[in-house]
Amino acid sequence: MTLENAAQEGEQAAETKAETPAEPKITFADLGLSEPTLRAVTESGYTYPTPIQAAAIPEVLMNRDVLGIAQTGTGKTAAFTLPMIDILAAGRARARMPRTLILEPTRELAAQVAEGFDKYGKYQKLTKALLIGGVSFGDQDALLARGVDVLIATPGRLLDHFERGKLLLTGVQVMVVDEADRMLDMGFIPDIERIFKLTPFTRQTLFFSATMAPEITRITDQFLSNPKRIEVAKPATTATTITQRIVALPGSDPRTRRAALRATINSCEVKNAIIFCNRKTDVDVVALSLKRHGYNAAPHPWRS
Ligand code: AMP
Repeated sequence: MTLENAAQEGEQAAETKAETPAEPKITFADLGLSEPTLRAVTESGYTYPTPIQAAAIPEVLMNRDVLGIAQTGTGKTAAFTLPMIDILAAGRARARMPRTLILEPTRELAAQVAEGFDKYGKYQKLTKALLIGGVSFGDQDALLARGVDVLIATPGRLLDHFERGKLLLTGVQVMVVDEADRMLDMGFIPDIERIFKLTPFTRQTLFFSATMAPEITRITDQFLSNPKRIEVAKPATTATTITQRIVALPGSDPRTRRAALRATINSCEVKNAIIFCNRKTDVDVVALSLKRHGYNAAPHPWRS
């Protein structure tokens, strides 16, 4: 091959490469979900699965344990909810024996997961109960007595119900521990261990945590069986349309800081802005100061 030929071939190769279409993106339909679940997903407005959904859904459908290292905002809730809905489509709930169990550290997260089941499971008939603070004990107990497919709970509330003899965990086929690192911060790990021991060892376990502290690794080593480990990047914390800048100040004098704030507002030609302070009193001082300097500013009226 002459040098000229080689150069031509190189060019051709480059052209061919440029024409090769980009790797086709994985769609929800590629993941093995049922038609009714896919319909509900489409209606939720999701076009493509997030990385944790693409990786976890096929594994969960194959009944494998999953260790998901992922934060909120990565789409991890649907990563376990969608395949669970399909697993639950076969079979029927028995009185006081939930078929699946989801543990959440807070009542807000538990309520969000419950909403997810309603949204994604709208074309399947699933029953669920919610054992969290602020939700009537009697109502949830009546649901449990009839039998539920999904029980969503905070650990303390769940054990409370268990101790009153209102619940059996021996029918749990799938158990989810969500936000395990927050459970650790809140002192729930002993409760989680107890709950694990109350469920059959043949269960499928889906375990999610943003970080793997030694205490969490100890639990996953003990209670997960050959899990598929899926680690996803943190979701972007700032919109790409936002430019971030840091203004360095010589000290922490509040007057200097307020002057720097005005200088920043002026130099950036700000039309509308939101200013965050770390104390309510600072919010009032900064708003008053801006007003005195001729800015149309007001503190947010909301008070916690
Ligand atoms: P999560 O990390 O589960 O709390 O989900 C974060 C947010 O992402 C929620 O508001 C979901 O509704 C949304 N979400 C989940 N999956 C997708 C997806 N595949 N496409 C777009 N948004 C999604």
